[in-house]
Amino acid sequence: MVEHVRERVAAIRNRIAEAARRSGRTGDEVTLLAVSKTHPVEAMKKLLDGPVDGFGENRVQEALTKRALWPDGGGLPWHMIGHLQRNKARKALDVFDRVDSLDGVDLARTLERLLQETDRVLPVLIEVNCSGEDAKSGVSPAEAEALLEAVVSGCPHLAVEGLMTIGPLGGREGEVRGAFALLRELRERLRSSFALALPVLSMGMSGDYVWAVEEGSTMVRIGTALFGQRSYD
Ligand SMILES: *Cc1c(COP(=O)(O)O)cnc(C)c1O
Repeated sequence: MVEHVRERVAAIRNRIAEAARRSGRTGDEVTLLAVSKTHPVEAMKKLLDGPVDGFGENRVQEALTKRALWPDGGGLPWHMIGHLQRNKARKALDVFDRVDSLDGVDLARTLERLLQETDRVLPVLIEVNCSGEDAKSGVSPAEAEALLEAVVSGCPHLAVEGLMTIGPLGGREGEVRGAFALLRELRERLRSSFALALPVLSMGMSGDYVWAVEEGSTMVRIGTALFGQRSYD
């Protein structure tokens, strides 16, 4: 599987490009995040020279361990895509270039306080739970506005670039597309009420990225279809 990871990137890029054309866009308007959680650094190194746009990890400790083995100057950004506990925020800032799973005001304030120490600005996405599944993190669509307001007014070291969601797992096509369309419409609303660009819509994983791109995704997060099945989660 790992031997063929580069061919898989090319095949996924092709499907992204076709889906982007169907939504009136081009494939280069969609970035591809390789979700490397649970997979070894050796697998990630196959992508070192940049056929993908970054790596996604969901655990701070795992990412720290891997990044210590990562070659200096390996320039792709590392994205935190899982729920971040506040007591791990400082470590997360050591290892991640961006946090795509901002899901609460308390976390935003904790990150802001830590970022102030070095006057660093962190790009973030607000994670929205568009399918109402209890097990999922992310704010509800209704809470997203209040979280964005809190960040814009009180967290100058957080740069909100857009929204992220996880589609309903195992959902039917209509249901999955509906969740993605909800995120897109929420982005349009927030854009006009806050006068922010919010260019990033991170949606789409191995099982649903073609639908996500057709629904306007600008960033897909692909694990299994690139690296194979995970042995644990
Ligand atoms: C694991 C994970 C992915 C990748 O899922 P695959 O189905 O393996 O492509 C994407 N996004 C998030 C937030 C994840 O936790």
